[in-house]
Amino acid sequence: MKILVANIGSTSLKYRLYSMNEDGAELLCSGGYERVEDYASTIESCLQALQESGHLKNLEELSAVGFKTVLGKDLSGCVFADDAVIAALEGFKEVAPAHNIPYANGIKQFRSALPNTPLVALFETAFYQFAPEASRSYAIPEEWQAIGIRRYGFHGASHKFIAERSAQLLGREDVSKVAQSLYQKGPQPPEGADLRVISCHLGGSSSVTGIRNGVAIGTSMGFSPQSGLPQNNRVGDLDSAAIPYAMKKLGLSLEEVEKQLTKQSGLLGVSGVSNDVRDIGQAAKQGNKRAQLALDVLAHSIRHWIGAFYLELGGCDALVFTAGIGENDTALREAVCSNLDGLGFELDLEANASLRGKEGDIASKGSKTRVLVIPANEELVVARECYRLLQSGAKD
Ligand code: AMP
Repeated sequence: MKILVANIGSTSLKYRLYSMNEDGAELLCSGGYERVEDYASTIESCLQALQESGHLKNLEELSAVGFKTVLGKDLSGCVFADDAVIAALEGFKEVAPAHNIPYANGIKQFRSALPNTPLVALFETAFYQFAPEASRSYAIPEEWQAIGIRRYGFHGASHKFIAERSAQLLGREDVSKVAQSLYQKGPQPPEGADLRVISCHLGGSSSVTGIRNGVAIGTSMGFSPQSGLPQNNRVGDLDSAAIPYAMKKLGLSLEEVEKQLTKQSGLLGVSGVSNDVRDIGQAAKQGNKRAQLALDVLAHSIRHWIGAFYLELGGCDALVFTAGIGENDTALREAVCSNLDGLGFELDLEANASLRGKEGDIASKGSKTRVLVIPANEELVVARECYRLLQSGAKD
């Protein structure tokens, strides 16, 4: 069965084509388009290219297209991308504007291009459905809760891949059995297993998630993807009292506040240099204090969340770094892991310094907790969940 995973940005379309069967997935090809203005013609080009390259004999050979949708109003899980999914994305368009509208439009365009092919949405929030209620609730009035304000959590597909892959690397029970039922039924942790993973997805946007036996127990991102750690140019966590105060003192409108907190904050806001840690690191080396502060704020926030989940999990078997920054920024990994020997995290500094963009264990031999680098593979999780949804439909 061939499944296409489409990653939709506001001006980009990236894709991966997988061949799937009971034994697993094989990546057949991947590609993408940047600076997309006309989505309909870009989708046409993409489908044309897949056929011309021989990866698809014809469009009928495509069993499904999967989407890593972000946040749905009153909807999560892995579901067919029908009108209810589009309504759920549009219902929360203010909360995740950079993601929800491109996905709602992209799904509509794919639907016109492929009217007979099942489209499947895996929500980024799905991984957190079974986190304890206390970790998903804010201390707000009931009316606020009633309109859906709570901690949802994001990067679910990425953290789920980390949960499964780290269990494999540690030679532990297969938590994919838990994850397998996670999106459709309910979590069923393997008996007697206790695998505690803290997953740090550090990239253009970042989050830290605590995971027990394949099930998320909490995460740093909350109601929207602009919370938790400082993001590249989004604010991360901020005291709610700061907003009315800044509006009054700086004479800002709500629109201006939103713009500043989503486009001019995070690493860019603190450093004043760039939203990319590579440029910020360069500036810090040349003595730019704001740049150094941005890196310190990021490391401090990552450590804050690692500490929170270490306590919630009662320890940690694997601390994992993934995504662009996590896979490549050796200095940040060192800063995050410094002085944690007492808690059982001990980095092998040489192994850390030489591992970039590849999978590996960077903990010292004697470290109680393994410290792993695992390249992100969110698309694979989307493809697997699509496959499972189609298979469960076929069985019913
Ligand atoms: P992602 O969202 O996973 O694609 O990560 C993108 C981010 O990863 C970029 O904004 C960079 O800040 C960071 N990144 C990518 N390559 C490197 C590298 N070689 N060293 C440090 N950071 C990197």
